[in-house]
Amino acid sequence: MNAFWTNETQIRDFQHDLRAWFLKAQRDMPWRRERSVYRTVVSEFMLQQTQVDTVRPYFDKWVARWADFEALAAADESDVLHAWEGLGYYSRARNLHALARAIVAQGSIPASPEGWLAFRGIGAYTAAAISSIAQGVPAAVVDGNVVRILARLSADTTAFKDNGAGVKHFSALADNLLSRKYPGDHNEAMMELGATVCTKHNPRCADCPVAAFCCGKTLDDVAALPRFAAKAVKKVQIDRAFIRFRDGSVLFAKPHASARRLRELLEFPRWENIFPDKTPHAEALLLEGRRGIASESILERIYAGSLTRIPKSNADAEFVKVSADDLERITLSGPHRKWLRRILQGKKEIG
Ligand code: SF4
Repeated sequence: MNAFWTNETQIRDFQHDLRAWFLKAQRDMPWRRERSVYRTVVSEFMLQQTQVDTVRPYFDKWVARWADFEALAAADESDVLHAWEGLGYYSRARNLHALARAIVAQGSIPASPEGWLAFRGIGAYTAAAISSIAQGVPAAVVDGNVVRILARLSADTTAFKDNGAGVKHFSALADNLLSRKYPGDHNEAMMELGATVCTKHNPRCADCPVAAFCCGKTLDDVAALPRFAAKAVKKVQIDRAFIRFRDGSVLFAKPHASARRLRELLEFPRWENIFPDKTPHAEALLLEGRRGIASESILERIYAGSLTRIPKSNADAEFVKVSADDLERITLSGPHRKWLRRILQGKKEIG
């Protein structure tokens, strides 16, 4: 194995080849055409959890409307949120707006990753990206893309518990490989390499600018790196009640907002919340559905039940009766819409 990262001359050659490729092959991005701290900050916020092609038009419109931190700081929050509409994860828009206001209020821009980390919505990756790309600070970015490239370059077959463990594992190597002279180009080149050449499922080793340094390219299945340990799947069972009143209306539960994302979404009430002292009868089973959420495999069973009035809300949920006419208009959580249609069509799906 050619452990090039232990040899200063080879590290310099690696940095040189990577950057030379990037300067030629980089994709045209609106935030690369003209550089400023503000433009880099906006692009990094928009790119968190969002694809480059989705971000492009938003970025152009955003910087045309608010060209710098001062302009953004003076904007109304409702306009900021409206301009973000369609990008999702609105907390990013709020955090970006708050950051602009804080920078204007304090009259200075942070000059180090630690300074950027003090702002809400900025984690280690974004802090390193802004500092290196816009300010030339030697801080290595390490995200899933970089973990993938480094695992392959070093043919490291460690099985990580999750992406965070991979980031931790490779941070020292990423820092060791970082070009001190061109940290921004280097970081962007690593991201570009991960996005266009050393991709998740189909690495194009024949076109790779750093193939000469790569220990993984001769492995039978380099695309399998990095490895992640299989997660233990927890089995969960939830029994729910389908209650239809005489006028055709149906009872739903509005879970209390312990999980904010569930707010305003309705679902079939949990059986134990409606009939705490009664076990459902097997004959009353209408439908059985399975779904996976994170590391849980959930078996949901929906049983027919009967009631004459709406139960009082309890610690878990508030109960609402939805008229037959409104059943198509309400917003249901996850697969409950599909289940409701099947039940109303009289389709029993069990087992
Ligand atoms: S040679 Fe292949 S596996 Fe190695 S870094 Fe390049 S694309 Fe990735």
